[in-house]
Amino acid sequence: MYWPPFPLYVANSEGCRLTDADGHEYLDVLGEYSAGLYGHSDPVIREAIARTVERGFSNGAPAESEILLAGLICSRFPSVASVRFCNSGTEANLYALTLARCATGRAKFLVFSGAYHGGTFVFAGDGSPMNVPFDWTVGSFNDVGAARALIERLGQELAAVIVEPMMSNGGCIPADREFLLALREGCTATGAVLIFDEIVTSRMGPGGLQGLHEVTPDITTFGKFLGAGFSSGAFGGRAELMSLMDPARPNALPHAGTFNNNVYSMHVGFSALNSVFTPARASLLYEDGEALRARLNRCAAEVSPAIQFTGCGSIMNIHFHAGPIRRPQDLAYEPRELVRLFHFDLLERGVYAAARGQINLSLPMGQREFDVIATAVQESLQHRAALIQGIFRGVRARE
Ligand code: PLP
Repeated sequence: MYWPPFPLYVANSEGCRLTDADGHEYLDVLGEYSAGLYGHSDPVIREAIARTVERGFSNGAPAESEILLAGLICSRFPSVASVRFCNSGTEANLYALTLARCATGRAKFLVFSGAYHGGTFVFAGDGSPMNVPFDWTVGSFNDVGAARALIERLGQELAAVIVEPMMSNGGCIPADREFLLALREGCTATGAVLIFDEIVTSRMGPGGLQGLHEVTPDITTFGKFLGAGFSSGAFGGRAELMSLMDPARPNALPHAGTFNNNVYSMHVGFSALNSVFTPARASLLYEDGEALRARLNRCAAEVSPAIQFTGCGSIMNIHFHAGPIRRPQDLAYEPRELVRLFHFDLLERGVYAAARGQINLSLPMGQREFDVIATAVQESLQHRAALIQGIFRGVRARE
């Protein structure tokens, strides 16, 4: 949440707008790093919260809403036979990885450079000293040949491969379908578990990026918007794997957690997914995002061939780089000061994006808001045109 010299402190919010502590209003395109899919005051969500308050909370027992929410997830993600809830995306990934370890009796994991799977799963740069101390091998994203070779080399020691079908933190870089298919084939051949971290990308169409690409993982992790503003995470997948955690079985793998099924996340999350983020609405948001990214790329091309928006559906990121962006290493020499400047230029125009140049659309937005974003982006880039063109002098238009 922190960015220098200091982050904005938000006093209140409504729809897709925020007001900071100094009274400035912004269009919120940070969207709580994608968790704010529903905006800040959806009436269905408010009503669901009120109903939860009325019915009572902190019950220490299962309730109907978690069955309903699980049913919705399973119906939209055919790879998920059953699902277990937890409190965050980080936790969901921790459980998915440890389940894979227990199921396979193996200890090694393949992950990709630049990936972010949570506060203790950071694979940008040199990684993080706070990472969970598993036996990691770090591969190169979207490199089919290298991934195949690594999976083959790790062979019978490989417990799981974990991948974001679009790197989010890593710069909104979509995985190629061929890359995901190669991971699928490699895991099937070696008996390793393929984990798709769809914590961000599960909003892409009704069934996430696995649905759009028609590639089936063994386990999928969820989080972010799932709790509709309340903390949540979930992991689910193939029946044989999930049954290892079935508490009704003798020797089941344990999964305890006081707030795993807290009634706010379950009840509000279900109401929102069921009545607001319907499959039709998910498809529409995806299409709106694709159209907006194309429009922003046209604004960018007017200023310099070295400006581009990458991403997928309703999530996108500006980059100051002329060539193709297929993995985070491609951005090693990106002038990050331009991204910071762009962030401040948008703020000055009343648009609150992520400091890393990421834009996350939310459901309360419509054409009016998309126009505001496009105008702010166009003005910001035109304002810095001389600077950007000077830095990238001689760079020619992309094919
Ligand atoms: N996985 C991805 C792809 C994420 O982007 C994030 C958070 O940004 C996480 C996992 C971790 O989720 P949480 O912040 O809920 O722990």
